[in-house]
Amino acid sequence: MQIASRLGLVTVVAALGAIAAGPATAAEPADGTRRPARISPAVTVSVDAVWEMEDATLVLTPAPPPPPPAPTPEEIAETRALSAAEYDNGTIPLDELCTLSFAPKHRLRCDAALALEDAYDAGMPSSRMTDSYRTLAGQVSLAGLKPELAAVPGTSQHGLGLAVDVFGPMQAWLHENGEEFGWVNPDWAKSDKYEPWHFEFDDDLLGDAS
Ligand SMILES: [Zn+2]
Repeated sequence: MQIASRLGLVTVVAALGAIAAGPATAAEPADGTRRPARISPAVTVSVDAVWEMEDATLVLTPAPPPPPPAPTPEEIAETRALSAAEYDNGTIPLDELCTLSFAPKHRLRCDAALALEDAYDAGMPSSRMTDSYRTLAGQVSLAGLKPELAAVPGTSQHGLGLAVDVFGPMQAWLHENGEEFGWVNPDWAKSDKYEPWHFEFDDDLLGDAS
């Protein structure tokens, strides 16, 4: 900060009003006692003093660190997804999952939910969704009801909050466009075990841009 030139003396007009109680030339009391010296708002100091003041300023008021940037929705979803991924299949606490704005009764792992919200924002119609996250008890129950369709309890992607079962226009839209958002009808659901309504989330499909 080269503000002080070699002028010998410079005048610094400091914001010392709060300190200065009055002009330095105030008359002394008639009884001859000396008043304590006062600081005037206008002080004449040497160049060296200016440098000292600058040094002191640098030491006393270091620049505060910039505030950390607010996390993006993707970063929040990623953090919550990592937390949910620590639970065994079908045992994720519901508050570790995210609901869907267009299907508020359904819950998914938060990164999968965010990707489906992105699809919705991109024009995916919302239609009947029958399943999303499924608890282990729910999977056991389903396996009893539909043993030919339901996955072995503890192995379903529904138990990880990474699958949905959808019907109607939403199903058709996801078959057409879902991969762009990480949601696909897996190969196993296209043959013997035919489940065109079942979609799974695979974040590898999103690439590094996600
Ligand atoms: Zn399913």
